[in-house]
Amino acid sequence: MTIFLASGNLHKKSEFAQIFTPNQILIPKDQGIDFDPEENGNSFVENSLIKARTLWNIVHEPVIADDSGICVDLLGGAPGIYSARYAGISDMKGEKAGAKLDAAERNRLLIEQTNTALAAYRKNNPEDKRSDLELRSCRFVCSMVLYLGNERFYAVQETLEGSLVSSIEASAGSGGFGYDPVVYLPSFGKTVAELSAEQKNAVSHRGKAGKKLALLLNSK
Ligand code: IMP
Repeated sequence: MTIFLASGNLHKKSEFAQIFTPNQILIPKDQGIDFDPEENGNSFVENSLIKARTLWNIVHEPVIADDSGICVDLLGGAPGIYSARYAGISDMKGEKAGAKLDAAERNRLLIEQTNTALAAYRKNNPEDKRSDLELRSCRFVCSMVLYLGNERFYAVQETLEGSLVSSIEASAGSGGFGYDPVVYLPSFGKTVAELSAEQKNAVSHRGKAGKKLALLLNSK
């Protein structure tokens, strides 16, 4: 079966091809489709549904869409749905001119903001005995929608729990993308970027959500 993925991201296309094997994954630009819907939802699930519904209305074939990001507890869940455009706490939705920072700069800013928030939290909560590692908790979140027909869809949301590294020097690994080098997974003793693609797919927010939808797809 051919499934359209509502994304322009080639890295995601190959992650999805692994998860949904043996189905063929196409992205809009494979078919010359201009696809850039306004993601104006207030949550991951709203945004994934906007992308899925918009593409289904064009192709009338099964569509998968996802919306994902990183939520840092010390930052009240930020950058969340603004993860792709995050430019620091005062430019959560991106820089004023709309330019995107590169991933290394976003990672540096996120660590800096988290360190500032941690110092303030420690000052105001001296009785809290949790370790820095515990307080630097964060999670990747992925909402994923399988859109099968006019207003017929399944939505799932999964997470990958981790802890933000304490400095940019502590970032590690060259796999994955985005925030992967700065998210440490205590159960592996590694950052997400140090995992192989197979290891990441087995535990990641996107991998787990995709596997649930693959089961639903096979039973539809
Ligand atoms: P979107 O889901 O394409 O809107 O992407 C959201 C943003 O969240 C990406 O640009 C990344 O910065 C970040 N993100 C989402 N999933 C991951 C992941 O698995 N690793 C690293 N960064 C991620």
